[in-house]
Amino acid sequence: MFRIEIDRDLCSGFASCVQDAPEIFELDTSGKATLRVTETDDERALGAAASCPMNAIAVFDLDTGDLVA
Ligand code: SF4
Repeated sequence: MFRIEIDRDLCSGFASCVQDAPEIFELDTSGKATLRVTETDDERALGAAASCPMNAIAVFDLDTGDLVA
């Protein structure tokens, strides 16, 4: 299980996270990413974090608290 955070100060609205995992991420009316869920077992969260050009997405292992993406 993963816990996801978005640094909205870094987010520039490229929306690759939304394309990678639309069940997890969406853009709000300001054009920045927001979370539809904060915890998930969907591994696409990892790919979304890796593909964010602003490095604005952090994914933590819920059990250990370790940063995993
Ligand atoms: S990919 Fe990164 S910069 Fe783009 S909308 Fe998602 S969080 Fe924001």
